[in-house]
Amino acid sequence: PSAMREIFLEAPKVYWSDIAGSDAAPSAPGVAGGLSSKSVHSQVRELVEWPLKHKAVFERLGVKPPRGVLLYGPPGCSKTLIARALATESGLNFIAVKGPELYSKYVGESERAVREVFKKARNAAPSIVFFDEIDALTTTRSSDPDSSGPSDRVIASLLNEMDGIEALHNVIIVAATNRPEIIDPALLRPGRLDRLLYVGPPDLATRRQIFINQTRKMAVGPLDFDKLAEMTNGCSGAEVVSICQEAGLVAMNLDISVDLISQSHFEAAALAVKRRITPAMIR
Ligand code: ATP
Repeated sequence: PSAMREIFLEAPKVYWSDIAGSDAAPSAPGVAGGLSSKSVHSQVRELVEWPLKHKAVFERLGVKPPRGVLLYGPPGCSKTLIARALATESGLNFIAVKGPELYSKYVGESERAVREVFKKARNAAPSIVFFDEIDALTTTRSSDPDSSGPSDRVIASLLNEMDGIEALHNVIIVAATNRPEIIDPALLRPGRLDRLLYVGPPDLATRRQIFINQTRKMAVGPLDFDKLAEMTNGCSGAEVVSICQEAGLVAMNLDISVDLISQSHFEAAALAVKRRITPAMIR
């Protein structure tokens, strides 16, 4: 029995313009890697698009293109959207795998799954392999050097594949995690996931924009977007999206023959939403 659902080649349809905050100003605390104060989006684009578009320049200068990028930050804050937009907008094939899917209790299955993923990626090159929840590969890594649990084996084969640099031509690895501190350091060495980019919670202007985008196709009364953005300080993008849906349900609950969702419904939903981001998740 296969450990993994079939690996699908996806054709994501997410554009930079779908992500609020794309062209936003430098998320000040968020710039990892010492690359000045560019937005996460432009940094990640450079990392992925340059090696593909300007391969000759890298060769001429003797600079090794980055092999992989680790996006880290609190849940629901657009890491997955960024990976998909990268693929869509640079015309790359996209293969998405969730960390936990790589497990199997059958010896050899997980390693085979990892090999399959990379084989597929090479065949589909130029391509992006997106490993979501990559931290799942490290949490159970055993401290006992003599035992090799399933996680050690998955990581070993992952490293092995990533190190096959020549073979990996035109395959870029993008990984995402909410918990960068538990990632196996071996995965972060040069030539592997060697760029780290922090994707933080949406700022005021970004939350406002998400409200505007989300309500565009909803039946809403006049809304005070500034107030909603202020009320949702600390929310993730995903939570702002869910507040919009919830507002509709609040309205229906009060009056099933309601025509328009109004400001008060949004405010009630904003107060009720559960916030998942804790200070520890923010850097
Ligand atoms: P997780 O760590 O939980 O996997 P993530 O950081 O990968 O989360 P996404 O899956 O990219 O988050 O975002 C979840 C949802 O939140 C998106 O599908 C989208 O609806 C909404 N969202 C988050 N951030 C934004 C944003 N900046 N603009 C528009 N929508 C957003």
